[in-house]
Amino acid sequence: MLTLDYTGDPLTPFEPAYTRDSGKPVERLDPSDVDLHKIPVLPMGYGAAREIIDRMTGETAPENWHSGIPTTHRIEGGDELTVRVRVNQPKALTLAVNVVGTVRGTELPDEWVIFGAHYDPWGFGAIDPNGGTAMLLTMAEALGELAANGCAPRRSILIGHWDAEEYGIIGSAEWVEELRDELNANGVAYINADSAVSGPRFGSSASPSLKGPIIEATKTVEYPGSGMSVYEQWLQANEREDAPMGNLGGGGSDHVGFYSHIGVPSGSLGFGGSGGVYHSNYDNFAWYERFGDHEFIYGPTLAKVNGVLALRLANADVLPYDVARYAQDLKTHTETIERLAADAGMAMELSDLHGAIEVLADAADAYETARDAGVRGEDFPDAELRAINQLLVALERAFIHEEGLQGRPWFRSLYASPDPFSGYASWMLPGLRYEIETDNPEQLEFWEGVYSEAVGELTSRVEALRERLND
Ligand SMILES: [Zn+2]
Repeated sequence: MLTLDYTGDPLTPFEPAYTRDSGKPVERLDPSDVDLHKIPVLPMGYGAAREIIDRMTGETAPENWHSGIPTTHRIEGGDELTVRVRVNQPKALTLAVNVVGTVRGTELPDEWVIFGAHYDPWGFGAIDPNGGTAMLLTMAEALGELAANGCAPRRSILIGHWDAEEYGIIGSAEWVEELRDELNANGVAYINADSAVSGPRFGSSASPSLKGPIIEATKTVEYPGSGMSVYEQWLQANEREDAPMGNLGGGGSDHVGFYSHIGVPSGSLGFGGSGGVYHSNYDNFAWYERFGDHEFIYGPTLAKVNGVLALRLANADVLPYDVARYAQDLKTHTETIERLAADAGMAMELSDLHGAIEVLADAADAYETARDAGVRGEDFPDAELRAINQLLVALERAFIHEEGLQGRPWFRSLYASPDPFSGYASWMLPGLRYEIETDNPEQLEFWEGVYSEAVGELTSRVEALRERLND
């Protein structure tokens, strides 16, 4: 359960947590004024947990609280039972250090294509996070070699290794807060790689505009030992005819600051599916070597897919965002919201929003037709391309709602956010979703207005793009 309504350093909401010796001003809240957790929480092993649960005699717990241990779960221990737990979790002000490497772009160094993963683990952390950090190091080595041999990218590629993620997504959130203006103006994409390699099955989730580029990148790399592309194997393994791209939005990792606070299109790609050792002491190298990626082939494969994605985003004349996908996904999410409302006894039709999405769909198709007709030659000098790309970068920011979401102003994306209760689940159209989850039907009309306006803003940005291409 979350006790804070923002992500990052609990003492510096909205502001970067500069160190005292940085010479930069930073005002820290007094910890006694911050709603830090008050209930001590301690993970424990099956054996000890079972001893305690079996001795409990109070009221039984709801079904979905059950741990998987085959015994009766209860809320209270009863009068006879006392458990003493020694919890050693000191509160301290500790230095967190992000490490960010940059391959400087030759032509547009201020436009940033960003990859990242945290590097702090719970325990050994072979998968979480290092399945991702090791993959990023492999990718960084390759990009560095390309640059040293005269093939540096046109835009800058940044690779971040974030600290203090497991403590509340602190390192990346503080970096985003420090570079808010730069990221807002020039952040092209953020690709997260937390725990990115732990098995043979490819999967990905992203914001709409990155789904196309990610799918295309998977078509260029061979799935190890199969004679198929990663894309073909991905469809086959899921028995699908189209790529099963997920929707990014949950709060469990470092994309949150980029995506839900600033509105930088974000994605996540990974190989998984070997079973769970999540936040476990068994998440160690022996597990990784025996079960995760025992021939060490999925990590390099992901580095290739991500490498192609990085270079395409960094080198494209016109950023290859999947603009039409916004309308397709918005339609699906709006229908989902209507279904959730109906299930909660609040039947409603979001007809204004559906109407706005249809207008967007037409505008996006017109833009993509103009783009596919070709953007090259003397009609599009560098300054013109720069203007077009600036408009493209601004598309996702149309979902940024300055006041933020209900009761949590730090989360500003109307498109996607973590759920506000656990912070883990992915909520699409969170402004509407919140009113359904909190049983507040009278607010739905207001939020439909907010969403229709945001979709209208996105539509006018797409139309401005199309006009620039056709002129
Ligand atoms: Zn992690």
